[in-house]
Amino acid sequence: MNEQKTHEDLLNYYIGLLSKIQHYREMAGLAHWDMATYAPKQGKSMRSEALGTLSTEAFKMSVSPEMQNILTELSEEEHFNKLPEKYQRSIKKDIKHLDKFRKIPEDQYRDYVVLTSKAQNIWEKAKEDNDFETFQPYLEKIVDFNQRMAKLVGYEGHPYNALIDRFEEGMTVEKLDTTFGELKRGIQGILDKIKNSSKTLNKRLESVNLSVEKQKILSEKILEKIGYDFECGRLDESVHPFTIGLNPKDVRVTTRYQEDFFKTALFGTIHEGGHGMYEQNIPLELFKTSVGSAASTGMHESQSRFWENVVGRSEAFWKGLLPEFTELFQDEIDKLTLEEMVDYINIVEPSMIRVEADELTYSLHIILRYELEKDLIDGKISVKDLPKLWNEKMKEVIGIEPKDNREGVLQDVHWAGGMFGYFPTYALGNLYSLQLTEALKKDLTDFTTLIENHNFAPIKGWMIEKVHQRGNLRTAEELIKEITGEGLSVKPYLSYLEDKYKKIYQF
Ligand code: ZN
Repeated sequence: MNEQKTHEDLLNYYIGLLSKIQHYREMAGLAHWDMATYAPKQGKSMRSEALGTLSTEAFKMSVSPEMQNILTELSEEEHFNKLPEKYQRSIKKDIKHLDKFRKIPEDQYRDYVVLTSKAQNIWEKAKEDNDFETFQPYLEKIVDFNQRMAKLVGYEGHPYNALIDRFEEGMTVEKLDTTFGELKRGIQGILDKIKNSSKTLNKRLESVNLSVEKQKILSEKILEKIGYDFECGRLDESVHPFTIGLNPKDVRVTTRYQEDFFKTALFGTIHEGGHGMYEQNIPLELFKTSVGSAASTGMHESQSRFWENVVGRSEAFWKGLLPEFTELFQDEIDKLTLEEMVDYINIVEPSMIRVEADELTYSLHIILRYELEKDLIDGKISVKDLPKLWNEKMKEVIGIEPKDNREGVLQDVHWAGGMFGYFPTYALGNLYSLQLTEALKKDLTDFTTLIENHNFAPIKGWMIEKVHQRGNLRTAEELIKEITGEGLSVKPYLSYLEDKYKKIYQF
């Protein structure tokens, strides 16, 4: 940089670099969305290469000498002290990123992006064929890269800490072992009470088929009701539902319809809608910095879980929805009562597939993956033993055993995508969602009535003000402390589960 540059010049140069990176990421995101929705099957392999190029360019810019120079200049006291908070935090975050990731050679990074993109296609086929062995060499390479990356970027304590920090800044194995230990014991305790309860829930709805066309109408209607903005988004279909925020004005969600299992689309849509509203309400002025994203992946998940479970599976929500629902499906379902619906969507039954798990046992599926992946990363266990270890752990943690790898170790795409360190954020989202709910109820004392009346605007408004608008100005840990006065806690979630199932299962 030229010595004569003014403070404004420097800042503008920095903003320019950030927006260039963002543009590459936006196009890579769009390519990813296209691959997952409408791209022809045969086109995916070459698209992986294009995606690799775009992501690598964005990565290169984020660790480039230009970036390093401008960050150094703006960090100088005379400049830094003049900057608004959003830029100060953005610069600090970029320096942290740069210090860690410039140690990863560019060619290795590119190979890895292409590897994980291809591995996802291999995994899809392997799952279909129940064939772990074809997928194994890919997963071995991915684990190997993650182990090397942990060493390169550095960590304190467990090597897995380097990986989880990418999704949940400051989170560690040491903290998770305690938190998840408490969560596991709490859930297993409630599960025992349910097993010993003499109440059996009505399962008539398990055998109804609901027209996919009508399910689509319902999905769109519910998204509109809770406040997802279709002017800045769209709803499509994909094998695995997801949300992608290309920018706050273009946030896309997907869902999956099953004629014989309407819970998939219904709760999948509400879940992604929760993610979508977070992305849509990140202020544009923050989006143009490096803090224009969620506080963490776990905090992102708190929003989807809040709308899916705390709202969507509540009696109050169905009190409001039942008339419309019964009218829409009048040809398919006869004489539906509120109690029957609430029981049906809250049935607890240990099952093999994480994405179809009930609300109670869901977190156990996460804890199982967490325990396996931290051992994979520090080399305690190896990829070839995963199918066996998976089945043993299922038995130990959830009490049932998969009949094959399709419903066992091959069920999730995350490891094929290289997302080591990601799974814990799903359970953290559950915990944050109830910490937030407790705080929200103090401000909106008519919370239940608002839900019954499907008057979601005040609830969404509260989330925007407290969570969405803050972007990544705070870490999740800092944000939850700011909102609730307390750090991460298991208690609100466990007491919510206890109260909920006590009522339903009458224990
Ligand atoms: Zn989610």
